[in-house]
Amino acid sequence: MSIRIGVFICHCGTNIGGTVNVPEVVKYAATLPDVVHTEGNLYTCSEDGLSSIRNQIEEQELNRVVVASCTPRTHEPLFKKNCELAGLNKYLFEFVNLREHCSWVHMTQQDDATDKAKDLVRMGVAKVSLLTPAEDLSTEVLPSSLIIGGGISGLSAALTLANQGYHVELLEKRDRLGGLLRDVNRVFPSNVPTSDLIDPLINTVLKHNNIRVHFQAELIDVKGFIGNFTATIKENDGTGELKIGTIIVAVGANELKPEGMFGYHLFKNVMTQLEFEQQYRGDYSGLKDVVMINCVGARTDDMPYCGRFCCITAMKNAILLKEADPEAEVTILQRDIMAFGKVFEEYYQEAMQVGVRFVRYTVDRLPEINGVGNEANKVRVYHELMGRELELNADAVILTTPLVPAEDNQTLSRMMKIPVGNEGFFMEAHQKLRPVEFPADGIFIAGCARYPTEIVECISQGYAAAAKAAAPMSQGRVVTEALIAKVNPVMCSACGRCVEICPFGAIDWTDVSVSPKHTRRIAAVNQAECKGCGLCAASCLSSAVQLKGFTDEEILAMVSATIL
Ligand SMILES: Cc1cc2nc3c(=O)[nH]c(=O)nc-3n(C[C@H](O)[C@H](O)[C@H](O)COP(=O)(O)OP(=O)(O)OC[C@H]3O[C@@H](n4cnc5c(N)ncnc54)[C@H](O)[C@@H]3O)c2cc1C
Repeated sequence: MSIRIGVFICHCGTNIGGTVNVPEVVKYAATLPDVVHTEGNLYTCSEDGLSSIRNQIEEQELNRVVVASCTPRTHEPLFKKNCELAGLNKYLFEFVNLREHCSWVHMTQQDDATDKAKDLVRMGVAKVSLLTPAEDLSTEVLPSSLIIGGGISGLSAALTLANQGYHVELLEKRDRLGGLLRDVNRVFPSNVPTSDLIDPLINTVLKHNNIRVHFQAELIDVKGFIGNFTATIKENDGTGELKIGTIIVAVGANELKPEGMFGYHLFKNVMTQLEFEQQYRGDYSGLKDVVMINCVGARTDDMPYCGRFCCITAMKNAILLKEADPEAEVTILQRDIMAFGKVFEEYYQEAMQVGVRFVRYTVDRLPEINGVGNEANKVRVYHELMGRELELNADAVILTTPLVPAEDNQTLSRMMKIPVGNEGFFMEAHQKLRPVEFPADGIFIAGCARYPTEIVECISQGYAAAAKAAAPMSQGRVVTEALIAKVNPVMCSACGRCVEICPFGAIDWTDVSVSPKHTRRIAAVNQAECKGCGLCAASCLSSAVQLKGFTDEEILAMVSATIL
């Protein structure tokens, strides 16, 4: 069948029409090979424009469509869907970006912009003639999820999924659930005992029919892709395999142990906030003078981030000390107070009202801890506002340290090809727009594994990750675009560049038989994991990897069209 191309050129109001002479480009497009219909529209994306495309596909028997308009980012799916409605395979559609690649960048050069628009349309026409039809890819999604980490984030995610009827495999490396919170005495801002909050949650998880908890279990390997992961785990001295559709990483974080700082390990009454909460558990007898030092090991050159809730933790323990004994002298030495939002600002006010003293120190004059034997008894600090040194008595010195990444993050990152940032915490796909997702499909993140955060956010992120994981599981299948890479087995030289370069781990080795007795190792693309980024195709020296919709032939046809 002969190629019959329709070209629709949009004014995009004045966005394109104000710079490019659209009628002239429409006339020019009609002269291009295989173009049987051209038209200009004020807005091709309007119902008038879309119905015109559908009508022309039918009346003119168009089997290829080019739209030259604003941006493929928002409008390409719309035009592709429109082609499908008229019975034309959506992969026979080509988008030419006349707004961002032409009119917006050449606003003051109208004639040149019109010439460039003609070039771009010519390139689009050259490419669309070579496009071939394709079908979206569809993969089954198993209705079960692996949650790594049984802290509050993992527990919240597990219950959300289990209550929706999905099976959950909850992996906890320790012999107990609850994570860090098991060692926290009370929780701000209500200061209720932590056990009131966490114990009912743990009991519900342990009793839930849809949740299987693996204690003292370790993830050894993960293979597969969204919908069909196979996780190998080690537990009870044996290994086992779990088949799951989605994964949630909720491995939390650890409190920094401030080795060598502020007399920690030199004096037995210098401790971290977590150690204080574990040791005293609300019985503060013998503590008349307490000094806390905030930002220990945080906001430094080595560890530049803010621990986010450390200030509030210090305030909590200071308020609890003052409530137990209003006569106690409790001083928080701080660099800045981070009490974000309404609740924490009020909490800060409350701490001041009950008589907690806040003293600002600076990094160039750090507080000094002195003691007798292995007991600290004095803290010297330079009071910035008073302009002099203070000497504070201390029955205990409590160091407020930030959370640091969990020890297995790098291993898990390599295993699942999920990124970690400079600090060692896991990095979401997009800080603003995709906060609980990884770039790899079907793997999600929640809680302090992502960044230190307090429990309200951990719970919200647990819910969010569970909702995200439930979406493909409820559909039962995931549908992905057919614009993915493919390896030509005959041309593959097995150099391994594509395997190395693929950011999604979508290319691996496979053995193909070349004779009844011999096999050859070549690269193969896993369709469900490929995102069609094209890095493999661009790096393949033997042109064995081709990206559907952007093959060498199609790209070279566009390049040739530019020199016509
Ligand atoms: C001193 C202190 C006081 C705090 N006080 C408060 C407070 O008053 N109010 C408040 O809102 N927040 C408080 N927090 C913060 C709170 O503890 C955290 O927000 C919360 O515990 C984080 O939950 P999570 O599930 O993300 O991580 P975690 O609690 O760290 O849980 C992660 C779990 O994953 C497990 N795990 C780790 N690696 C693996 C692996 N490879 N495989 C399997 N399992 C793994 C861990 O053993 C752990 O059980 C405090 C924190 C500290 C340090």
